[in-house]
Amino acid sequence: MDQPEERTEEEWRSVLSEEEYRVLRERGTEPKFSGDLVDVKESGVFRCAGCGTVLFESEQKFGSNTGWPSFYDVAAAGQVETEVDTSHGMERLEVHCGTCGGHLGHIFEDGPEPTGKRYCINSVALDFEPKSDKESDI
Ligand code: FE
Repeated sequence: MDQPEERTEEEWRSVLSEEEYRVLRERGTEPKFSGDLVDVKESGVFRCAGCGTVLFESEQKFGSNTGWPSFYDVAAAGQVETEVDTSHGMERLEVHCGTCGGHLGHIFEDGPEPTGKRYCINSVALDFEPKSDKESDI
């Protein structure tokens, strides 16, 4: 059985699209307002595009006007991990999937209450699963 957390980079290249690979495995960033999840407002869950782990829920999404999907919290503690990222001459808090290690985006401290955090996440790093899909999936 395929274990996402044990995939080699070669295997990741074969299961991810070029853009997914660039973001998830090479810590890339999609151009702002280019992602297909920026304006999603339906209820549902956001899964890691690498391994399928549920990382965020629609209740935690807010309109940040930054051009990237933004969340003030994660679906469950421990689903994501963070690391200080000093690339591009900035010190930012990088966030990645706790299961497969895929790069998701960065966390900033200018988000809304109750956390004050803004998880700035690449659309391409997430797969959205609308709630209505499950209900109609009979
Ligand atoms: Fe993952």
